[in-house]
Amino acid sequence: MNILEETKFLMRKYNIRANKNLGQNFLVDESVIGKIVDGSQVDSNDLVIEIGPGLGTLTHFLLEKAKKVICIELDKKMVEILKDRFKLYNSFEIIEADVLKLDLKSIINSNLNDCKNVKVVANLPYYITTQIITKLLEDELPLESITVMIQKEVAERLLGKDNGAITYCIDYYCTGKSIVEVPSTSFIPSPQVTSEVIKLTLRKEPPYEVNKEHLFKIIKFAFMQRRKTLVNSLTNAKIFNSKSEAIALLEQLHLDINIRPENLSLEDFVNISKNTMK
Ligand code: SAM
Repeated sequence: MNILEETKFLMRKYNIRANKNLGQNFLVDESVIGKIVDGSQVDSNDLVIEIGPGLGTLTHFLLEKAKKVICIELDKKMVEILKDRFKLYNSFEIIEADVLKLDLKSIINSNLNDCKNVKVVANLPYYITTQIITKLLEDELPLESITVMIQKEVAERLLGKDNGAITYCIDYYCTGKSIVEVPSTSFIPSPQVTSEVIKLTLRKEPPYEVNKEHLFKIIKFAFMQRRKTLVNSLTNAKIFNSKSEAIALLEQLHLDINIRPENLSLEDFVNISKNTMK
């Protein structure tokens, strides 16, 4: 049975209909699954966290490679299927929960045992992709890498082809790369968008010495009013006391005074942050 047939079989057996509200698009393309697993470089020393395992297609391959796989799934029906499907695997654990509400740090710490690395591998629910990735980074978990299938548009934002606030968050915490673009025909049901698998490798040390809270506050304010110039956004947000103070700093940093936030580098934001700490 190939993956498509297996997925259809499981859906019939357990009387499942994909729940659109939970972003359920099941991956049925074996070559893409191979690329996710190879790209993640999961091996027998690893603890893997899989978010949104669904019917367990990717899980099955991860269980063959990893020391332990902890799955987090919100849909009770999927949880029951997974418990049944993987009951013979000691290395499998399932947590029924909303990933956004979980204390991932204590889950990881209490399961580390003799696992060397912790890796997140997932085909994420698209309606909360950014929230999940932001949480994984801001919770400062002991992760080595995050290999995830996401919307192509979001991938472009994360990897700096279309800068937004999250681009700088990724750049601060990780180095990122694209693994493969995935057409909508690789899923059932087909999503309305093209997808992409990306890999984020967590930095061992932050790239700059800077007050992180202040840096991310500035980035957030800069992108809240994307169409405005940086000078206007940051003056409105009271990062600067006046427009002239903002212009003076941009000139000192050799930046165009009409620059818009998406044209700054992380280093530019770091320099602004260091010069505006009160
Ligand atoms: N991994 C499966 C695959 O590749 O075929 C399913 C991926 S599907 C795109 C996303 C999965 O995330 C669904 O199984 C869905 O129920 C689950 N999910 C949605 N929201 C969630 C949440 N807040 N926390 C945990 N899982 C969630």
